[in-house]
Amino acid sequence: GYRSRAAYKLLELQQRDALLRPGMTVVDLGAAPGGWSQVAATLVGKRGRIIAMDLLAMDPIDGVEFIQADFREDAALAQLHQLLDGQAVDLVLSDMAPNVSGMKAVDQPRSIYLVELALDFAASTLKPGGCLAVKAFHGEGFDDLVRTLRSRFERVVSRKPKASRPQSRETYLVAKGFRVG
Ligand code: SAM
Repeated sequence: GYRSRAAYKLLELQQRDALLRPGMTVVDLGAAPGGWSQVAATLVGKRGRIIAMDLLAMDPIDGVEFIQADFREDAALAQLHQLLDGQAVDLVLSDMAPNVSGMKAVDQPRSIYLVELALDFAASTLKPGGCLAVKAFHGEGFDDLVRTLRSRFERVVSRKPKASRPQSRETYLVAKGFRVG
């Protein structure tokens, strides 16, 4: 069984967009409790590599290297780069969501900021042709985000998995074909 319902969202993205393949190096941001990491570890297999990060602790998963840190902090980025040790990444996943205050004016910029950071990280680590799949919330800043992604990737689509709550504004942006430079 999976540790989270979120696992089914990644499985839906996988079915539609074939993100994960054996042997890939994957970074999973906002990984706890670990559903996506479980799915990813199974699909990349023994020759693959999963590096996962979350603010919260996460019980170990076979084949997953975990860092407990706040992705917004330089120290967290440094830890990711240290583990990668120059190895280029095939796929960056981010299911990060800020703690919701309930005030849209606060929550929306926070959520967009996390996606921007994930994009910066992806741009500094992805192989040419690499992919990024991120959770983003519809609202202020969303369209700009899509434009930015389109400038860096060949194909960008937005997906609303059936496993997402229908009333939720969450969307997954799937960007494929990273263009270096
Ligand atoms: N994909 C996960 C799974 O399948 O189990 C579920 C992820 S949950 C929806 C969002 C996660 O993002 C939370 O565990 C939260 O702690 C994490 N998160 C939010 N902000 C973060 C940050 N700044 N740095 C690291 N993790 C963060």
